[in-house]
Amino acid sequence: MTSTLSPYLHFGQISSLEIVHEIKKAKEKNFINQATYDGIFEQVFVRRELAFNFVYYNHQYDQFEHMTEPWAYITMEQHQDDYRPHLYTKDQLEKAQTHDPYFNAAMQEMILSGYMHNYMRMYWAKKIIEWSNSYKEAFETTLYLNNKYFLDGRDPNSYTSVAWNYGRHDRAWTERPILGKLRYMNDKGLERKFDMSKYIHYIESIKK
Ligand SMILES: Cc1cc2nc3c(=O)[nH]c(=O)nc-3n(C[C@H](O)[C@H](O)[C@H](O)COP(=O)(O)OP(=O)(O)OC[C@H]3O[C@@H](n4cnc5c(N)ncnc54)[C@H](O)[C@@H]3O)c2cc1C
Repeated sequence: MTSTLSPYLHFGQISSLEIVHEIKKAKEKNFINQATYDGIFEQVFVRRELAFNFVYYNHQYDQFEHMTEPWAYITMEQHQDDYRPHLYTKDQLEKAQTHDPYFNAAMQEMILSGYMHNYMRMYWAKKIIEWSNSYKEAFETTLYLNNKYFLDGRDPNSYTSVAWNYGRHDRAWTERPILGKLRYMNDKGLERKFDMSKYIHYIESIKK
């Protein structure tokens, strides 16, 4: 489920408290079930407040050296020199000129609509890590694109969510090349979760 409320939250046209009140009423009237209520509450209240908390208490929230956990810096240092089969510049990424049709579609969606589904945002950001010369360069490129194109960009959620791709508010996962113990995502995961050919067609349609 996705509400597309983030730009309205970002610009203050609706508050997270109002959303929580409304979903509470909807649950009491059985318009939504407990699982739906819990899912929305977790995102709009727990995750969002966690993001605001992170930015409020960490004044260097936008700097690579200060945005994530010690275990994440250790694993990135250990994998800094791993072989990277694909490397792209910021310009190539922004122009959606990679070998990966899903990344290119996501990048184009971002530019054309100012929006991207949460799951695609994760995939998009993880690929930038894999295809950049260094983690710091990847972090800075991701923030640059995030804040340039997303309608909900330049928000505490932007900084915390980008940092999440580098281990913030996450945990160590099975170690693998380049990402080390950072959470890994691949195109097979996207294909299991979504009808990706439909997504590609949708992006083609908004390009016209
Ligand atoms: C790489 C990356 C970049 C992101 N950049 C931004 C950004 O610039 N601005 C932004 O608002 N969100 C960002 N997010 C978090 C999340 O993807 C978006 O809030 C969500 O996709 C917005 O769509 P929605 O309103 O339909 O969300 P819904 O799924 O309907 O959720 C409702 C609201 O809950 C909050 N929320 C949902 N997921 C998260 C989360 N993981 N962390 C914090 N709050 C959350 C948002 O305010 C959202 O509008 C990013 C996530 C990733 C992985």
